[in-house]
Amino acid sequence: MNVVGDLFGAGKMFLPQVVKSARVMKKAVAYLNPFIEASKTEGLSANGKILMATVKGDVHDIGKNIVGVVLGCNNYDIVDIGVMVPKEKIIQTAIEEKVDIIGLSGLITPSLDEMVDVAKDMELAGLDIPLLIGGATTSRVHTAVKIEEHYKKGQVVHVLDASRSVTVAERLLGDRKTDFVNELKADYDKVRENHAKKRAQKRLVSYEDALKNKLQIDWKQEDIVKPNFIGTKVFENFSLEEISEYIDWTPFFQTWELAGRYPNILTDEVVGKEATNLFNDAKKMLAQIINKNWLQAKGTIAIWPANSNGKDDITITDENGKELATFHQLRQQTEKAKNLPNLSLADFIAPKETGIEDYLGGFVVTTGLGIEEHIARFEADQDDYNSIMIKALADRLAEAFAELMHEKVRKEIWGYAKDEALDNESLIKEKYQGIRPAPGYPACPDHTEKITLFNQLNATQSIDVALTDSLAMMPAASVSGFYYAHPQSKYFGLGKIQEDQVRDIANRKSFSEEKMTRWLSSVIN
Ligand code: SAH
Repeated sequence: MNVVGDLFGAGKMFLPQVVKSARVMKKAVAYLNPFIEASKTEGLSANGKILMATVKGDVHDIGKNIVGVVLGCNNYDIVDIGVMVPKEKIIQTAIEEKVDIIGLSGLITPSLDEMVDVAKDMELAGLDIPLLIGGATTSRVHTAVKIEEHYKKGQVVHVLDASRSVTVAERLLGDRKTDFVNELKADYDKVRENHAKKRAQKRLVSYEDALKNKLQIDWKQEDIVKPNFIGTKVFENFSLEEISEYIDWTPFFQTWELAGRYPNILTDEVVGKEATNLFNDAKKMLAQIINKNWLQAKGTIAIWPANSNGKDDITITDENGKELATFHQLRQQTEKAKNLPNLSLADFIAPKETGIEDYLGGFVVTTGLGIEEHIARFEADQDDYNSIMIKALADRLAEAFAELMHEKVRKEIWGYAKDEALDNESLIKEKYQGIRPAPGYPACPDHTEKITLFNQLNATQSIDVALTDSLAMMPAASVSGFYYAHPQSKYFGLGKIQEDQVRDIANRKSFSEEKMTRWLSSVIN
């Protein structure tokens, strides 16, 4: 019987409630375990055993942990093997523990490829265990198009959110499994068909033509504000209280699967009461984080003289003009309507040939330092609610720190917007001049640029933020990116690109084409 799943569906139960009460249940189960074990031999057993893992190179586990709690509450045995788990370990554990389902989680785009690799190896290992796919960048389309074809023996299922995981598990392990699998297969067939159709309709231009159709900016030296500061600055133990003023709360509620915008969500007819309870708990913990210094905030920023090469490379120098590094950007290759450019972030930096002095900024901030001991303490107490809560708050603080630092850069350090006076809401809507695109995001999906960024900022040494194999930042509650100041700079999505550009950028970066293809797989097909 699936209690939680049905109540979710009926809108009578919400995720925070479930996670919060899970602790009571876990403690009761721990107490009752000897009796339960005894009764299992008499035929009462769990609904099934489910392995949960965040794939290699990825450190994000809020979603995975929520799914684990929800399934646990529904009498599934959860074997959670943590984050950054290599595929060999996932498969070996699944076999040893004789699990009924494997659930993979990940947040960043390189994890999508890692999931494909896990599926391939499951097939090779002859497994037929159902494979659940979940996490922010995963999708039904990716699951159908990229994963399912590699795992024929078992069924792959994309799970959109935690509240659906129970129904999916139940159907996969229930009597009518065949019906469910057939439905899924038919659905994924259709998804693939639509995807292929859309792809065929999408017209891409050559990289050469895309370059010719770049954004033309009428560069004038007087439009560029000379920064008050050139070089790198480090901020240690930045005030968490100050940072907390910049929190954007809406994504916090999304993490807990409560839909709606803050602050209206607090009075929402359906989720208002639950959102208010959650918000009160969050504020209480936030006060402790601040007052007891549970987390440390560190950040580093830099502003460099910079010029583009008129194409997609941006070279930065020190204050004496000595070259430091080159950032490589990607350019949209979708065919554009007349008068619309094929954009690249490089378009927002003055080309060298103009003779104009321009600038680029970079940053890494973190609010996740020190979090581990608190997570360990909560987990030792079976307290999933607070363990997830502190991670969700640390993530919020990291984004808030990025917002605060960006403001500091605009108003003081660079100083191109000295007189800016925006209220909180306008800040959250990013209604200021300039952008801070983050490597791995739609305008610059190439995560490997983080290597250059981190090197130039010396971020790992100076503020203790490291990069994993997949270039996820550790601690997870970290944000990095670039500062572009030009009034015309804006966010955009790269969209699909072609092999001619992949070859070109591989060449410019001195990467093998194979390596570049892998890093860009999310924008190639
Ligand atoms: N207030 C939000 C901020 C995060 S989302 C929060 O607290 O969660 C917005 C950020 O994502 C931007 O500041 C930028 O760093 C990144 N971003 C958004 N769209 C982008 C795009 N198209 N390309 C690159 N980065 C992007």
